[in-house]
Amino acid sequence: MNRRTFLTTASAAPAAGAVGLAAPAAKPALSTKIVRLNLRHTWTTTMSSSQYRDTLHTTFTRGGITGHGEGAPIVRYHEDAASAQKAVESVRDLLLTANPMQFGKIMAEVFKRVPGEWAGKAAIDIALMDWVGKKLGIPLYSYFGLDPKDAPLTTFSIGIDTPEITKQKTLEAADYPVLKVKVGLATDEATIEAIRSVTKKPLRVDANEGWKDKEEAVRKINWLEKMGVEFIEQPLPAEMLEEQRWIRSRVHIPIFADEACQHAADIPKLRECFDGVNVKLDKSGGMLEAYRMLQIAKALGMKTMLGCMISSSVSVTAAAHLSPLVDFSDLDGNLLISNDPFRGVLVEKGKLILPTGPGLGLTAAK
Ligand code: MG
Repeated sequence: MNRRTFLTTASAAPAAGAVGLAAPAAKPALSTKIVRLNLRHTWTTTMSSSQYRDTLHTTFTRGGITGHGEGAPIVRYHEDAASAQKAVESVRDLLLTANPMQFGKIMAEVFKRVPGEWAGKAAIDIALMDWVGKKLGIPLYSYFGLDPKDAPLTTFSIGIDTPEITKQKTLEAADYPVLKVKVGLATDEATIEAIRSVTKKPLRVDANEGWKDKEEAVRKINWLEKMGVEFIEQPLPAEMLEEQRWIRSRVHIPIFADEACQHAADIPKLRECFDGVNVKLDKSGGMLEAYRMLQIAKALGMKTMLGCMISSSVSVTAAAHLSPLVDFSDLDGNLLISNDPFRGVLVEKGKLILPTGPGLGLTAAK
């Protein structure tokens, strides 16, 4: 057997068997629903500007236990809520007949059957993991062997806006000790100066691939360092790894990969170019892949961050259960919306307070 045949066979073999069937205690059910989340402020980054976001919500019920899931589709990966819903519906039969305690096997099969659609996969993964935590009667941080007291502070994000509104948003974020600021447009200096006119708090900056050449990036990063910025996220387009490596040797503050780091297999090649990785459940396809990414990044000596998209407390709470693992967190997507259907992770002066109920520990919003 040559190497190519070996690799193909080795990866295909485990999936050849049917995912384990178990006699259902009650009729299993799966629901998918697109939920429109309204933003408190119009949200602008280098990628888009919007007043609401549609995310896909799922429930998985079996044996009288219901797990909740959510995925926030990312336009950059050619997804929307309708395509995420279609992706989940395409594996309905698999989910309804599989044994949910074999969640690792189920998700491997979902990853194999469904191309792309990472938010759809996350909505499945999170619902299964919530179900598993409830079945075992433990919160998911305990399932992963983590101590909720280790959950780091979360940043609060300030989207791109006029200097006046940026100032107002900064003042509204008084309870958060660290801010994350979106830049990457021609207005970067004005944005940072507006924030600095009202606060001396540590800032973290996200360029969302907004700078297009390496000299501009070095100039801006060195200026940001002088303005008290702790680190910068994704200065250049994801594919510009050589230029990114060049930048890294010319600036002092750490640089995190976000758009360049979607899955576990991306991480080894990023090691020479970035100091850390920003892992998101909606980007990776759920908690299991995110956990794998965080462990790989740590093993490679990289710093770790958990981020999120604009989403409800379902997705943000799922990420928060993994947050005791990471150095930094940016889990504020649920704080940016005005109609969150759930209550889960809370934030007190920037500190993430994880719910202690089984699974995700969600309750309905009052
Ligand atoms: Mg980012």
